[in-house]
Amino acid sequence: MATHFEAAVPFFSFPLTTEIIMDPPRPRPDCPLVVAYGLGVNSTAMLVEFAKRGIVPDMILFADTGGEKPETYAYLPVIESYLKEVKFPPVVTVRYEPKWAAYHTLEGQCLHTGTLPSIAYGGRSCAAKYKRQPQDKMITAAFPPAELVARGKRVVRAIGFDAGEGRRTYAGVVKAVGLDAGESHRLTWAKPDPDAQERKPSREAWLDAHFFTYWYALRDWGMDRAACERSIRAAGLPVPVKSACWFCPASKKKEIVWLREHHPDLLERALALEANAQPNLTSVVGLGRSFSWSEFLTDLDDTPLFPCP
Ligand code: SF4
Repeated sequence: MATHFEAAVPFFSFPLTTEIIMDPPRPRPDCPLVVAYGLGVNSTAMLVEFAKRGIVPDMILFADTGGEKPETYAYLPVIESYLKEVKFPPVVTVRYEPKWAAYHTLEGQCLHTGTLPSIAYGGRSCAAKYKRQPQDKMITAAFPPAELVARGKRVVRAIGFDAGEGRRTYAGVVKAVGLDAGESHRLTWAKPDPDAQERKPSREAWLDAHFFTYWYALRDWGMDRAACERSIRAAGLPVPVKSACWFCPASKKKEIVWLREHHPDLLERALALEANAQPNLTSVVGLGRSFSWSEFLTDLDDTPLFPCP
């Protein structure tokens, strides 16, 4: 949480307030710092706050599911120019790369398999496959885990961070996630698995346990969404739209209506994806899980603007 002090100022001078920001320190400052950048409000604010604090990431990754909104893609050159200005590394776009599959995007997968994105069924594999895994692949190529963990474990265990010897350690990659202070429900990538102890840990679980340290910087700084927007504006940047797939089953109803107003072509594709999956749906009704987007929009159009007398 940032703490603010008024600097002591002589009584005859002009009023002057100096803001001193005292944050919890950056965890493991000499470990590589990788930003999971979603091109949305939170992660954009996190980059801005990093720049303000002189925290320079080693890598900024944007995982492109192929289904982001046009506004999100249009924000990329905007942030690129800002990053250049503050001397940050450029955004690296990563994507799912199929070995055999006949699709490259999440939309393509849904159409090919006659399914909805997994979040519609309560899973998270869509984000894991199209967001996390491509980022993990890039990060582990840049910072080989065996080498990094081996060096880190040795150094950490022998010296310890509390002894102030952290500069020489590489205990893991500090992965910064742009969640704001009101999003505690999104703190982990993976759902807790009650049977996990019975099985060999997944690659993701192993990486989380041994390779990644998650840093929720915005939470550390007590920044909620409004504060994020203020921070972005103060940096002279436009506030980006919420980043998510335009067919995301977690969309709010007002976001479905927004999509119809702003991108009717994309809405048509979302409805086609839903209709394509319909014959296979047993546990959910449609893209809205308990309702179908198609029926929701039909009902919306049928609702009279004012009640009949
Ligand atoms: S935005 Fe929604 S549909 Fe897209 S990957 Fe994330 S959870 Fe899945």
